[in-house]
Amino acid sequence: MTDSFRVFATCDIGEALDVLRTRGYQVEVYPQPTAPSKGLILEKVRSGIDGLISTLRDQIDAEVFEAGKGTLKVVAQIAVGFDNINRADANRYKIPFTHTADVLTEATAEFAFFMLGAVARKLWPAEHLTRDNKWGFWHPYLPFLGDEVTGKTIAIIGTGRIGLAMIKKCAGFDMNILCYDPAYQNHEYVKAIQETMDLRHSRAIQKDKTWIKYGSFEEALGQADFVSVHVPLLREGESDTPTYHLFNERTLRMMKPSAFLVNTSRGPVVDESALAEALKENWIAGAALDVYEKEPLPKDSPLRDLAIEDRCRLFPHFASAAKITRLSSDPNQGMAGRCVQGLIDVLEKNYAGDVKKMPYVVNKEAF
Ligand code: NAD
Repeated sequence: MTDSFRVFATCDIGEALDVLRTRGYQVEVYPQPTAPSKGLILEKVRSGIDGLISTLRDQIDAEVFEAGKGTLKVVAQIAVGFDNINRADANRYKIPFTHTADVLTEATAEFAFFMLGAVARKLWPAEHLTRDNKWGFWHPYLPFLGDEVTGKTIAIIGTGRIGLAMIKKCAGFDMNILCYDPAYQNHEYVKAIQETMDLRHSRAIQKDKTWIKYGSFEEALGQADFVSVHVPLLREGESDTPTYHLFNERTLRMMKPSAFLVNTSRGPVVDESALAEALKENWIAGAALDVYEKEPLPKDSPLRDLAIEDRCRLFPHFASAAKITRLSSDPNQGMAGRCVQGLIDVLEKNYAGDVKKMPYVVNKEAF
């Protein structure tokens, strides 16, 4: 019986919710575009809902699981990252939670690449020049020049799903690629990319030979013209190689003064005050950010300093924000569809009720 399932969504995720409604679920959606308070989430969970649809804006922890003791069966997060969900608490209460990996991989990687291009080729200051009527003449180098991307070296920090997709896009721009990942290395993929690079060179599709290899963090930061970050947010105690403030004064100083940092992962991976300092003092040439230590970006953030405006591109956590990626009801295409399917799998006991076999459940170790 599905008609007894009650679901609360902390945000409207579009038509995919109709998949639940047509199966007889009672679906309540928080109607505001902003996040509901923790108090409201607790109230809804306490009221006996079976499933909670969450976003990265909601803190899901022991308090929430305690409120749902005996009734809450699943938390379905519409995101691949789940640093807002306390995994240890979910495990203690034996509540499976799901995420929407894979369907946003290409969209996020392409946006990271566009951010990289935007900061390197100065798209934003160049458009301002035109719009603000400050484009007075054509000149070989005035008022400024950008940096080429083609043929440069990029460091990919984190070679999981999105890191590998980013590698594929960078290879298409004839870039050399330095990979760093202490926990997961895909040597088969790297070998295949090298073969593709060699073929493109031998068939005169690209002029210069290019290469890809794994290396150390120090090597990656020291040699790269671009550094693109694709790690999950892992705080002290959550991993042997935590990523909280992975980019700080010490590591930013390891980058070349001509290098650019691109972050589409999670804000707290970068120490923002150190980064603002790095941009002001020209330790590095520029940065493009999609995510922040506090979101939305506060009015008084040092990243808004007008002194670094020309070399600091700021986007509103937008990398996965493409129509099909975000909203398609098809679990193989859209985050909304995958989120809903994850919820259905748990509530309707698909895969013979074996949580470990459910593809979108994250914390399989608890079952
Ligand atoms: P993934 O789990 O497939 O890949 C993450 C990789 O990072 C893994 O291979 C892991 O071994 C590696 N890693 C862990 N600790 C590391 C460290 N200290 N140094 C280097 N590498 C380390 O995840 P994914 O699907 O590629 O997504 C990555 C992250 O991107 C998500 O966790 C999420 O936070 C973020 N994300 C942001 C957006 C956005 O809209 N801006 C969209 C999608 C994902």
